Amino acid sequence: MHFGVLGSGIIGLTTALELQREFPSAQVSIVADRFNEDTVSYVAAGIFRPGTSFMGPTQEITQQWMKDAFNYWDDLRRSNEAPLAGVNELSGYIFSRTTPAIVRNHFIEQLLPVYRRATEDELKLCQGGWKYGSFFTTCLTESRLFLPYATNKFLENGGQVIRQYISNFFDLPRTFDIVLNCTGMGAKELCNDQHLVPIRGQVLKVRAPWIKTAFYGDYDTYVLPGFETVTLGGCRQYDSYNTEWCKYDSMAIRERCYNLLPSLKKAEIVREAVGLRPHRSIVRVEPEVLTNDEGRRLRIVHNYGHGGYGVTTAPGTAKYALKIVRELLAGQSKL
Ligand SMILES: Cc1cc2nc3c(=O)[nH]c(=O)nc-3n(C[C@H](O)[C@H](O)[C@H](O)COP(=O)(O)OP(=O)(O)OC[C@H]3O[C@@H](n4cnc5c(N)ncnc54)[C@H](O)[C@@H]3O)c2cc1C
Repeated sequence: MHFGVLGSGIIGLTTALELQREFPSAQVSIVADRFNEDTVSYVAAGIFRPGTSFMGPTQEITQQWMKDAFNYWDDLRRSNEAPLAGVNELSGYIFSRTTPAIVRNHFIEQLLPVYRRATEDELKLCQGGWKYGSFFTTCLTESRLFLPYATNKFLENGGQVIRQYISNFFDLPRTFDIVLNCTGMGAKELCNDQHLVPIRGQVLKVRAPWIKTAFYGDYDTYVLPGFETVTLGGCRQYDSYNTEWCKYDSMAIRERCYNLLPSLKKAEIVREAVGLRPHRSIVRVEPEVLTNDEGRRLRIVHNYGHGGYGVTTAPGTAKYALKIVRELLAGQSKL
């Protein structure tokens, strides 16, 4: 059996590792044109915190993705590989001046070890006159460490990596029995998917080792401490394809974060980054069988469209994609 995984971001790598775990005697190859720092995954702050609008095919399946994903990250965090893999525990606050619903999250209130209402004293912890707040403990996965860690694991397990741009699924090696399509925004062209929309984001990575707690404020303001740097964000620009860094976004992010935590003004800026979140109102994890003009059939399992929550949910959707692979192999798929 030979599986091809198209894409080497967080979705492709977690899917490829899951394939190797589930089918230890199978051959698994990753095909991608971008790796590590050239992927959207590298830009992410990596906090496990799904948006409340994140949606899979059903509410039940989506909740299962969250559970499987959190268990994966939390197990890795507890293992002695955690520093290598870039997985850490992180606690923090989400504050709002305007809307109580913003500080609630039905996906994780029961899942995380701690998710509670912030006390009156805690609402005054940082500037802003906050009215509503929650405190939670979660995981953070730093892609700068996790992507190379996962790639090494994949290679150690006998996996093969091919650097290639693919404009048609039928250009993939003919030896692939099933293709896992983990191409993020790349799926827009590859699958001609009009439902896939970029949501542009920009962040600053700053050196501020004194910040140990995460903070969210209104208008997409966040301060998320990682392993070496703290991510300051952000913005969400719907349907923007602009991958260039924008000085106005940078100024707005700094102003909002500095207002929240004035000590950040003295933090050194290490880098600034832009990424296009691959947003789909319903994340696409489903099978498809394509047939080309010569009558050749290709079995595909799609796994893309995770928007701003790909790091959070990657291991959960990888597990679900594997369930679909097993059904395809058993001839049980509804196709
Ligand atoms: C500013 C910002 C902050 C974020 N913060 C968080 C966060 O804190 N928590 C969280 O959960 N998520 C966060 N995200 C979202 C997260 O980064 C994405 O959901 C995730 O990276 C998507 O991963 P992916 O593997 O689908 O895509 P990518 O990382 O873009 O990988 C796609 C892969 O597919 C390959 N590919 C695509 N098309 C082709 C083709 N035609 N031929 C060959 N190869 C192809 C690419 O080369 C690449 O290897 C953030 C995103 C941004 C922009």
